[in-house]
Amino acid sequence: MTEAAMDPDVHVRFENVSKRYGTSVLAVRSLDLDVMRGEFLTLLGPSGSGKTTALMMLAGFEEPTGGEITVDGRRIDNVPPNRRGIGMVFQNYALFPHMTVAENLAFPLEVRHLGRAEIEQRVSTVLDMVRLPGLGGRRPDQLSGGQQQRVAVARALIFQPALVLMDEPLGALDKQLREQMQYEIKDIHARLGVTFVYVTHDQTEALTMSDRIAVFDAGTIQQLSDPATLYERPQTRFVAGFIGENNRLDGTVEAVEGQHVSVRLASGSTVRALAIGKDISRPGASVVLSLRPERLMLAGADAAADNTHAATVNQVVYVGDHIRVVCAAAGAGELIVKIPNRSTGQTLAAGSSVMLGWQADDCLALDP
Ligand code: ADP
Ligand code: MG
Repeated sequence: MTEAAMDPDVHVRFENVSKRYGTSVLAVRSLDLDVMRGEFLTLLGPSGSGKTTALMMLAGFEEPTGGEITVDGRRIDNVPPNRRGIGMVFQNYALFPHMTVAENLAFPLEVRHLGRAEIEQRVSTVLDMVRLPGLGGRRPDQLSGGQQQRVAVARALIFQPALVLMDEPLGALDKQLREQMQYEIKDIHARLGVTFVYVTHDQTEALTMSDRIAVFDAGTIQQLSDPATLYERPQTRFVAGFIGENNRLDGTVEAVEGQHVSVRLASGSTVRALAIGKDISRPGASVVLSLRPERLMLAGADAAADNTHAATVNQVVYVGDHIRVVCAAAGAGELIVKIPNRSTGQTLAAGSSVMLGWQADDCLALDP
């Protein structure tokens, strides 16, 4: 019996799973991942990092070249895709063009030999769920792209699977519709309480929708955390750079003081930072400091800031909800500052000298 069989909260387990295509491409490397029952887990990463491959192995369309995948504690190697009881949604939703919406939805149920009345009932329920009531008689080409994608979501849910996989399902939609659908899918997940494994390369989408996010890079998971932890406490330089905007400063550790390190920057000034990296707890170690633009204070360089640094304003960009200030700090390169747009009175001109300030705990010292 595997461990997953003993822990009823683990729904899906990847154990040391690898996938090699041909002789050269190692798309997934020794992947260990537990997906908990009922959670919304997102695989997030750049294109080519192995997200789809991981999902396809779970769905049964690709075979691992190493390791094992268990669902409810049982190995699924020998179970064909259509017997895994998994609902799936892809970017190219691939509805049958000559069938109506209702026929498209009924199809997975007819395959499962459900009765006519039951099928009609479920088609109607699921159309309500994706907010398309009454559209069962249309053909796909009589629907907008967003509506077609809703039908694809409905089709994945209609046989009431315990596990739903989605691979970039909103990629083809425009920004506004995509954002609306993010909340709708999240809401459907909350109502159904089934396990969702979702793939996206869009960090905002991942932060918005997920209970937990696994950040993929080159076939491995760099970090697995809830959205807030991922954003506030990225553990590696890659994660800090991939999730959200991020100012980077290079430096050398001068001293280690408990949770913090003091770091000498190229400019010669010394700043305090939170020690995160594994190899930075000795004087002389190289570090990269990560600092979110919204945590930088401008001119604020008041007594409250743990660290201050003189800078010159290079550019002020009005973005609507915030003002983006590009600064040049001597020896520290370019630093982006985001100021919330609270008043129209603020005037800040390119060329002015400012003092930047930030808290030590907002400045993460990572391995270079
Ligand atoms: P993602 O979904 O994160 O963009 P993929 O899982 O699609 O990444 O791809 C991971 C790596 O595997 C990439 O280098 C990709 O080119 C390669 N790859 C994916 N599918 C195949 C395939 N069928 N044959 C060969 N290489 C593939
Ligand atoms: Mg992909």
